[in-house]
Amino acid sequence: MHPPVIAVDGPAGSGKSSVCRGAARRLRLRYLDTGAMYRAMTWAMLDAQVNVEDPLAVASASDAVSIRSGCDPAQPSIHVGDVDVSGPIRGDDVTAAVSAVSAVPAVRKRLVALQRAEVSAAQQAGVGIVVEGRDITTVVLPDADLKVFVTADPAVRAARRAKQDLTLGKAGVDVAQTETALRERDAKDSTRATSPLTQAADAVVLDTSNMTLDDVIETVVRMVDELPHE
Ligand code: C5P
Repeated sequence: MHPPVIAVDGPAGSGKSSVCRGAARRLRLRYLDTGAMYRAMTWAMLDAQVNVEDPLAVASASDAVSIRSGCDPAQPSIHVGDVDVSGPIRGDDVTAAVSAVSAVPAVRKRLVALQRAEVSAAQQAGVGIVVEGRDITTVVLPDADLKVFVTADPAVRAARRAKQDLTLGKAGVDVAQTETALRERDAKDSTRATSPLTQAADAVVLDTSNMTLDDVIETVVRMVDELPHE
């Protein structure tokens, strides 16, 4: 078959990044984390001291920001200009501001164009790609070969995210606070006017609350293997 394009959406902490990276490695596909791109744009706004609550200021400042994604699932990377921002984009300051920045239509227009360019580059290279985010199945790649909506119970998602934060060495991690923050971010991402997080009618829903990471990866790999050959 032609190199597959796999689109994956889901709320924060659903485990989609680990699933997408794992599946892309197993299937030897490229991997694009679009959340990292919105985080990188947010990092650039904070770095330039732009008021992220002012959509006009964000829209005009975002024009000059150059974002580059490295799509190797074994070692994904993200740069703003020449600065490697892989670490800083996971900071609490970026996480707290990203929903406001990603709600700005001009930001989405630029990043969606970059995302589609990465997919075309992969296809031209004869390699498939796994793309994850919030609007990939609905807006960015509605014609993807496979569309998956990964979700999990909010309490499970909070526990996973808190564990991840501890691994990243963050101090003062509290599961209840993490759950409140996740719910707030989901609410903002799901109710914004432009490209809100929604479940595509034709996406396969994977509730990972009671599944191990390996089980979820295996399920996605099997779904890709079972795609019709052309
Ligand atoms: O996936 P992650 O949690 O890192 O995404 C960070 C934020 O980026 C989300 O909360 C959302 O506001 C935004 N985002 C988006 N559209 C995407 C991917 C992420 O708006 N396709």
